[in-house]
Amino acid sequence: MAELKNQECPFCNENKATLREEEIDIPHFGKTYVFSLECESCGARKSDVEPGEEKEPSKYTFEVTSEDDLNVRIVKSGEATVKIPNVITIEPGPASGGYVTNVEGLLRKVKEVIEHSIDTEEDDPVMKKKVKNLLKKLAKVMLGRESLKIIIEDKSGHSTIISEKAVRSKL
Ligand SMILES: [Zn+2]
Repeated sequence: MAELKNQECPFCNENKATLREEEIDIPHFGKTYVFSLECESCGARKSDVEPGEEKEPSKYTFEVTSEDDLNVRIVKSGEATVKIPNVITIEPGPASGGYVTNVEGLLRKVKEVIEHSIDTEEDDPVMKKKVKNLLKKLAKVMLGRESLKIIIEDKSGHSTIISEKAVRSKL
């Protein structure tokens, strides 16, 4: 892993950012670079992934049906949109970076986003109930007791779901 300390932070311009670059080899996807930036001064954090070779825009659909599916590897770039029908759509943007994870890790991030929304919807009992039900569903999926569909759309093609069960289609 390459690490550069005391770099200029693009957010606060202080020379307090640490840049890291890691190269990993992902089976069925190839060499992939994982970048991250962390600033000691303003606390900014950013990460993204980029494959070594060019990729076609793609859409992956994966149905989580068992506990084993939680270990399926996922590469999600900063340009990907994550859709979980009837649960959530996470658009690319400053709050949604790129990372290499597995289904469980992705569901944990989804849970965080939903939990965060419960704080902002505090005064709306209908929304609050809806959010609670979503969290219950996620908990069941993470125990392998309920199924869930995950769709990742990426114009850059930098994202993938590595499983024979994952369906790849053109975007
Ligand atoms: Zn900073």
